[in-house]
Amino acid sequence: MRGTRATEVVPAGEEFRFVCADGMTGAASKILLATGLVDELPDVERIEPLYGLSVHHCLYCDGFEYAGKPVAAYGKGDKGAELGLVMKHWMSDVVVCSDGTEVSSQTMRRLEQHGIPLRSEPVQSLQGTNGELSKIVFRSGPELPRAGLFFATGCHQASDLSKSLGCKRDEKGGAVTDPVTGGTGVPGVYVAGDVSRDVLLVAVAIAEGAEAGVAINKAFLRRDGLCE
Ligand SMILES: Cc1cc2nc3c(=O)[nH]c(=O)nc-3n(C[C@H](O)[C@H](O)[C@H](O)COP(=O)(O)OP(=O)(O)OC[C@H]3O[C@@H](n4cnc5c(N)ncnc54)[C@H](O)[C@@H]3O)c2cc1C
Repeated sequence: MRGTRATEVVPAGEEFRFVCADGMTGAASKILLATGLVDELPDVERIEPLYGLSVHHCLYCDGFEYAGKPVAAYGKGDKGAELGLVMKHWMSDVVVCSDGTEVSSQTMRRLEQHGIPLRSEPVQSLQGTNGELSKIVFRSGPELPRAGLFFATGCHQASDLSKSLGCKRDEKGGAVTDPVTGGTGVPGVYVAGDVSRDVLLVAVAIAEGAEAGVAINKAFLRRDGLCE
């Protein structure tokens, strides 16, 4: 294991040549990409100390902790409103914050149908101590006491190596894998975890890593004539 960043991985005949940020170079027969995603945090003052503690991006990871608590859905335009609608499945007290942007009339009707209030004023900052959100401060209007905030501002791939290796990618840069084999379609290139964007959970990343490991081992066995 090397704690460095792979900056370049390119096909070279039957193998791949790689270059790392610490200057190491080499060749590999197979490549397993597990480079993950980077969440795009909302541009809101004092969000960073709360991120991962009371400000979250994933309902499947953290939603259950907020049942019965007051929460906010943050996102510009319809994105935050759509997140707020989904959050209703977990939590009863949800307020959508669209941070100075408009929500379409159609989505606005859906918010009303489900009893979800909208605060459209620009968000100034989040207030909280020891990682616990206490309130949202707007540039105008009253503060909003909240115990948690979920955001819908997106994420991007941590690395573009899947692109340079020729993997098919979706519109967000995630590697598209075969639903049956899990393969990338590029011989010798395997992916695991958030590099492919199916379900973004630790358990799935671990399982995909194990599957890729087995697939790589079988490919070596076939190469060496040890199995069909
Ligand atoms: C705040 C937060 C909370 C979460 N909570 C949960 C939860 O409660 N339950 C759950 O199941 N999931 C949770 N997740 C999601 C979970 O962390 C991911 O789905 C999982 O970690 C994906 O694993 P991965 O190996 O694909 O990517 P990562 O865990 O992101 O690991 C990728 C690694 O690759 C490295 N890397 C990137 N580019 C390169 C490169 N070019 N060369 C070398 N290394 C590189 C990165 O530095 C990183 O160390 C959470 C995520 C976040 C951000």
